[in-house]
Amino acid sequence: MEKYMLSIDQGTTSSRAMIFRQDGTCVASAQEPFEQHFPKPGWVEHDPEDLWRTVCDCIRQALAKANIQRGEIAGIGITNQRETTILWEKNTGRPVYNAIVWQCRRTAPLVEKMKSSDPDFADKILDKTGLVPDAYFSATKIQWILEEVPGLKARAGQGEILFGTVDSWILYRLTGGRSHATDYSNASRTMLFNIVTLSWDQELCTYFHIPMCMLPKAMPGASEFGYVAPGIPGLEAIEGVGIYGILGDQPAALFGQTCFDKGDIKNTYGTGCFTLMNVGEEPIVSKKGLVTSAAWSFNGKTTYALEGSVFNGGSTIQWLRDELKLIDHASDCDVLAETVPDSAGVVLVPAFSGLGAPYWDMYARGAILGLTRGTTKAHIARAALEGIAYQVYDLVSLMQEEAACPITALKVDGGASVSRFMMQFQADILNCDVDRALERETTSQGVSYLAGLYCGYWKDLEELRKLRHCDTLFRSKMSEAERTKLLGTWKKAVSRAAAWEEKES
Ligand code: ADP
Repeated sequence: MEKYMLSIDQGTTSSRAMIFRQDGTCVASAQEPFEQHFPKPGWVEHDPEDLWRTVCDCIRQALAKANIQRGEIAGIGITNQRETTILWEKNTGRPVYNAIVWQCRRTAPLVEKMKSSDPDFADKILDKTGLVPDAYFSATKIQWILEEVPGLKARAGQGEILFGTVDSWILYRLTGGRSHATDYSNASRTMLFNIVTLSWDQELCTYFHIPMCMLPKAMPGASEFGYVAPGIPGLEAIEGVGIYGILGDQPAALFGQTCFDKGDIKNTYGTGCFTLMNVGEEPIVSKKGLVTSAAWSFNGKTTYALEGSVFNGGSTIQWLRDELKLIDHASDCDVLAETVPDSAGVVLVPAFSGLGAPYWDMYARGAILGLTRGTTKAHIARAALEGIAYQVYDLVSLMQEEAACPITALKVDGGASVSRFMMQFQADILNCDVDRALERETTSQGVSYLAGLYCGYWKDLEELRKLRHCDTLFRSKMSEAERTKLLGTWKKAVSRAAAWEEKES
């Protein structure tokens, strides 16, 4: 009987289930969006029951589409939106508050206060957790819920309340409350996990007033996390099947891109861009604002990743389409950009919400520079695509410097990676190959690979490498002189966009 792997991808705007066969191809998939809640400006919440319900619906639909019978699923992997925080009652499994989503800024003042009043502690957090303290991470979100919900602190101290990131929540429900666990990659994004010792950190938990008895068991990404409980409606065909892999979405994509060796690097071009580099078996503490996390662990070895993000990637193209109305469809941007031989000196800095590493300037704002009377919308479209690639260049350069690891190729995926023009420009400006994967769902694939390795569905990394196929290899064609000139213009443009917004006094 042919067997399959099931992956669950619980994302920020939708849940998804995919069924893979041994050659790595997808047999069936299902996806379902759910409601976003914005109770106040800057606040973002999800209903944890929506996350669970949509996950179950997707699994049911995918199993039905592939006509999967009992015994045909060899194992399950879970990947998820990271940092999003859920607290629930141990006895009933009921959430005590909505999930506070990673994007939610409600605890930003808490973090700012800590950074200004206790800068040494902020440094300590970086050394222990690999993270630059921020409201994204789970710690202050847990702290906030414990303080805001009456009586919760005392109950949590008595072991009645459990915390989990979304992977833990789905695992808990799938196993009928038997497993309360997470993997190192998700734990790494809580700001409570020591990435050197790979354990929860007592000092950090005390600092954020979080009882350690709330925390899930932190386990290697490839582990026996638990088994699907009986009695979940529609999931009878996977009852008793093992959950053998958990990875946060970005490390899952790194694994799915088969970035198994030190120095391997990928970028996902979505709404924003996420660049991750495999830095091997020792964490690197970034001096310039990148973050480090434990990524995957199996066979007793843990692989670490250095990570950086671009706030506005594909969203720049959405802006051209929806606000400027320069194009009708995202794909028109490429067509327009290629009607001109170059951007004629126009540079677009997509700093709509500030700039991340290596600039870390929250007061930078978007800018279009170098306009002349001859500038056309084609030049602006071209400059927009180039602006995304320049930001990725900045991240990749910084990573090469901090990891002391030169790269030969950048593996790419994500919705905006379909832009041929941008991928070619990326290769030119980085002076390295850009290798676009044929497989579109590297995140789901990545976690099913890891789970499949654990349960023996796939033999080893070599077998997995063969499952990745290159769609297009973009090779650098630009002269060194041209590259130097363009990068000089980009740096100049960034300096003009810097510190634009006045700081509030
Ligand atoms: P996310 O997972 O962040 O929602 P996706 O990976 O689905 O993002 O990518 C969507 C983004 O890709 C959008 O911001 C869109 O503007 C961009 N995009 C889609 N098609 C193209 C294209 N042909 N050229 C450039 N950008 C594109």
